[in-house]
Amino acid sequence: MPELPEVEVVKKSLKNKIIDLSFRKVLINTNKLRYTINKDLNKIITNKKILSIDRRSKYILINLEKNITILTHLGMTGKFFLVDKKKIHSKTSFYYKISNRDKKHNHVIFFLNNDTKLIYNDIRKFGFIKIISTKDISKNKHLETLGPEPLSKKFNLGYFEKKASNKKKNLKNILMDQSFVAGLGNIYVNEILHLSSLNPYKSIKKLDIKDVKKIIYFTKKILKKSILEGGSSIKNFNNSDGKDGVFQQQFKVYGRNNKKCTKNYCKGIIKKSIISNRSTFYCIRCQK
Ligand SMILES: [Zn+2]
Repeated sequence: MPELPEVEVVKKSLKNKIIDLSFRKVLINTNKLRYTINKDLNKIITNKKILSIDRRSKYILINLEKNITILTHLGMTGKFFLVDKKKIHSKTSFYYKISNRDKKHNHVIFFLNNDTKLIYNDIRKFGFIKIISTKDISKNKHLETLGPEPLSKKFNLGYFEKKASNKKKNLKNILMDQSFVAGLGNIYVNEILHLSSLNPYKSIKKLDIKDVKKIIYFTKKILKKSILEGGSSIKNFNNSDGKDGVFQQQFKVYGRNNKKCTKNYCKGIIKKSIISNRSTFYCIRCQK
């Protein structure tokens, strides 16, 4: 599942490749993604220019002229890629492959005015594409309850202490709570807590200032690192077998059940358990 860094890289790629272009037409090859696609999509966006592209949590917002925004989420398997007139495919992020076999999942094809096609492919169809009014973005039901972006200045010590002080949750659950901080998924929360040497079951009431500082520091650090690496490897994405899964191999705790802790000084073993239905990996020795 694309997490925040992957989505940020998609946003950056799209910014580089489609800003200032207009849509020529849209072809919809499916009746439904997570939600039914507006049947007037073609009519609404044809000849409209792409002004800007933003990301909020794991949502991408493609802002067009005339107060139109395409709100999209990649769900579990959604991917955007571009095909130019020479049929050269280019990926927009590092987390997927483009395979001819998956062509039947090219659900939405946006034709751009530079003879390039922007394709939305989604095998499991949990992603979506919606049309909303740009000026109502903050009131949109997907976006209005989201907490601050983890990379923004708003996600700081003061915010954490104020917002978390009266909650009874454990650390894993608070970081997964999208109204507390937006866009952190299961993999990254596991990694952040391992880097911070904090136990996912620890009650947030028991955190001291040092703990909170570590959480904030490592949250920003790991996200930035992932985005940078994704951004730098994107140059190699011009063919179907570009590098992918680079981060997957670098996880220090996620998926390492029963293996030795990756910290040099620690002889602990990684344990797997379930918190709120999500796999949780932590070192029984150094995460306290
Ligand atoms: Zn350890």
